[in-house]
Amino acid sequence: MSTSAPPPTAERRGAAAGLLAGIGRTPLVELAFPELPAGVRLFAKLEACNPGGSIKDRPVAGMVTRALAAGRLAGGRRLLDSSSGNAGISYAMLGAALGIPVTLVVPGNASAERLARIRAHGAELILTDPVEGYDFALREARRLAARRPDRYWHCDQYGNEDNWRAHYEGTGGEILAQVHARTGAPPDVLVAGVGTGGTLTGVGRRLREARAEVEIVAAIPERFPGIEGLKPLGAPDDIVPAILDQGLIDRRVPVTSEAAAATCRRLAAQGLFVGPSSGAFVWAALQVAAERRRGVVVTVLSDTGERYGSTGLWPSP
Ligand code: PMP
Repeated sequence: MSTSAPPPTAERRGAAAGLLAGIGRTPLVELAFPELPAGVRLFAKLEACNPGGSIKDRPVAGMVTRALAAGRLAGGRRLLDSSSGNAGISYAMLGAALGIPVTLVVPGNASAERLARIRAHGAELILTDPVEGYDFALREARRLAARRPDRYWHCDQYGNEDNWRAHYEGTGGEILAQVHARTGAPPDVLVAGVGTGGTLTGVGRRLREARAEVEIVAAIPERFPGIEGLKPLGAPDDIVPAILDQGLIDRRVPVTSEAAAATCRRLAAQGLFVGPSSGAFVWAALQVAAERRRGVVVTVLSDTGERYGSTGLWPSP
């Protein structure tokens, strides 16, 4: 059976238009925790509402549509990238809808749910050694692209400026408008994390333009592999993503996998079914909030909890 994608048809273009139109404009929810100081409000963007189930639909849609318009995928060249899995799902989903062949380099410990969905959309998967982490997958994608430039175009989400721009225009712009509608002002604190750095850089730049003194907090996993999707920023040998604007970060809060998982379960008890990076962000947001008497803290719930059943995140009966 051939794995190459069939040529685009009218129906496929129709599905693509619908999917692209369904990305973004996610709800902003207010979170309630007993330890939150009375004068502090905590809001979160529900990114699981994107059609690919995570925040990565936004940058991937931006990067892929820009690449198509620039003719980078002409002549049946395959779109190639490395991913912790969520961007892989977005690439696979949009590649299937747009008729673009996709190859993804993903660490072999990505959750079974992620790998199943990438395969379901028909993308080619190259699994790398889990112990080597995200940086090794990135190096492998670079190596493949350098060896076969006729076959692959490396989208490179870690170095592609259209990644952070999607968050500057979309995620960040929406946060400003939604927080303003609820509180009458821009937020005082942003809590995010770093996979590619796209979210932190794009949203951080947008919020800092609106309020110069906004505090930007990065939640950093204490160990690797620790929290799916997040890099141990600053650890020895860790590659700092080219698009990450480190100058935006005012403060780093280390988070354990256990604290992230426990917070996911607390969020599930409030009706919010999200993955460990979201748990880590909310845990860090609660630490920062505890030091304030008043203010508005905003964070992002990056993906759906349905991606983590196989990882033991949720209590079994
Ligand atoms: N959370 C999850 C679950 C992710 O998959 C990612 C992306 N790897 C992030 C957070 C971080 O997003 P970004 O790439 O924008 O830094």
